[in-house]
Amino acid sequence: KTFEALHLKPELLRGVYAMGYNNPSKIQETALPTLIADPPQNMIAQSQSGTGKTAAFTLAMLTRVDTAKDFPQVLCLSPTYELAIQTGEVAARMAKFCPEIRIRYAVRGEDIARGTKLTDHVIIGTPGKVLDWSLKFHAFDLSKITVFVLDEADVMIAQQGHQDQCIRLHKHLSKKCQMMLFSATYEKKVMEFAEYIVPSPITIRL
Ligand code: AMP
Repeated sequence: KTFEALHLKPELLRGVYAMGYNNPSKIQETALPTLIADPPQNMIAQSQSGTGKTAAFTLAMLTRVDTAKDFPQVLCLSPTYELAIQTGEVAARMAKFCPEIRIRYAVRGEDIARGTKLTDHVIIGTPGKVLDWSLKFHAFDLSKITVFVLDEADVMIAQQGHQDQCIRLHKHLSKKCQMMLFSATYEKKVMEFAEYIVPSPITIRL
């Protein structure tokens, strides 16, 4: 399989090649056609770190950005500061040839003034900070998010309070929002959470 066969936007394909990727990994090849197809479909994917899942979902996120709109449209939740930064770095490199796409980290140390209205297209962050910015400061509108990614769901629910924060955020998302959830494991507890977050999913297990 080739990346050309996945029908990515040309500028994203250039980004992929600039990262030095020659061929899609199994998860990229399996998940991407579904994730970027219209109408959007929801997905639960069981995939370990190291399989290339970050590139799979960041490419899907970037595909859906409409730069004619200057408000957050894509939201990616990570369980930790470090993972959010890593994901943002992959997204930024993939978007190298889409200079109009703006990506913003919602993590500790990143602060916004009260009254700020964010004009970034992509928000990547941890649940607490995203809750503050959306529901407390009204810096962006969760109901306008068109793609929601929850990464490392198994790690997320293992952390005190994170599961509830995700559920609080999720209640404000649109019914039309495309939902994707990734987890390295698929124990019952994780899958129950996944199925709550992601309605009518296509499920992928690698
Ligand atoms: P991840 O599973 O997202 O943590 O990615 C694991 C590692 O695989 C990262 O170092 C990526 O840069 C690398 N990687 C992801 N996709 C590909 C690909 N298609 N070809 C080569 N390396 C890749």
